[in-house]
Amino acid sequence: MYTDLPIRKIIHVDMDAFYASVEQMDNPHLKGKPIAVGGGGKRGVVSAASYEARKFGVKSAMAGTLAVKLCPDLIFVRPNFERYSEISKKIRQIFYDYTDLVEPLSLDEAYLDVTQNKKGNPSASLIAKDIRARILNDVGLTASAGISINKFIAKVASDYNKPNGQKTVNPEEVLEFLEQLDIRKFYGVGKVTAEKMYQKGIFTGLDLKQKSLEYLDANFGKSGRYYYHVVRGIHTSEVKPHRTRKSLAAERTFSENLSSEVFMLEKLEHIAEEVARRLLKSLVAGKTITLKIKYSDFTLQTRSKTLPYYISDKSMILETAKDLLYQEKLSNSVRLLGISLSNLNTEKKKKPELKKSVSVQLKFEF
Ligand SMILES: [Mg+2]
Repeated sequence: MYTDLPIRKIIHVDMDAFYASVEQMDNPHLKGKPIAVGGGGKRGVVSAASYEARKFGVKSAMAGTLAVKLCPDLIFVRPNFERYSEISKKIRQIFYDYTDLVEPLSLDEAYLDVTQNKKGNPSASLIAKDIRARILNDVGLTASAGISINKFIAKVASDYNKPNGQKTVNPEEVLEFLEQLDIRKFYGVGKVTAEKMYQKGIFTGLDLKQKSLEYLDANFGKSGRYYYHVVRGIHTSEVKPHRTRKSLAAERTFSENLSSEVFMLEKLEHIAEEVARRLLKSLVAGKTITLKIKYSDFTLQTRSKTLPYYISDKSMILETAKDLLYQEKLSNSVRLLGISLSNLNTEKKKKPELKKSVSVQLKFEF
């Protein structure tokens, strides 16, 4: 069937309840039990929940106290990120047997462009099946996959037959798939945006498609254009291999300008917590801490300090940020504070050359 959409063969691979599944694999007594991986136990936040725990409504990012209320038998397990990282690398090696165009989103998710692949296999669906079988066989864990013409649809599709399943959205099915899709399932539409769309009568892709570019621009800012295109099957973002971060940051704008450092400490603590959470998620640490201060007159100031060692935990980040805050008198009231970490301990790999364009035949096997 003919389609004039830009077509690549993209697979989104997503490990099933990754951290929790690793723990259950490594500790057989946890198999079949509701477990929550999270550093703070009941007092912390759930990073990952096993499928047995999810049945009770336990989810990642949920407070431990609430999780226990939902599931009294819940077992808390301390995360072992080194182990997750080690397994993640093994899985990535499997991907590289098929293509070098692998873009990890996190330890347990990646996009693969298999338009041209090392196996010469024209079917992205069969490649996905193969990869999932190899992950199960070599690593011992299950994965799900979404297969389609671009990253956006592949990502949405990988959720469809989870766990241990896959879904292909063929080129000729793309438009219909997107039209019937609940906008809450659109990648890039968060809770707040979904709410806003619902209020405007946008419930499905079809509703979204009926809004003009001007309308979406006016109502959803920069993202409006993105929504306008993805719902039409247009998403040209390439699979970018070896994305290495230069820095990691978080910031807060205050509803009222603050003029005393004392009032800023609490805000700083939240920001430090957010930075630490992101560092943990990306498994990196940094040496340089930068405090960003935006004054009520919109002038911007940054203060930095480089430590002799890498840090990643909240208390160290907070302490350093505090030092920076007190280092010098504030010149005005403050409307925004931010903390960033740079000088990260990420490997410095060279980017391989990206093939600029890929010619696609009309006869297209998926
Ligand atoms: Mg996952």
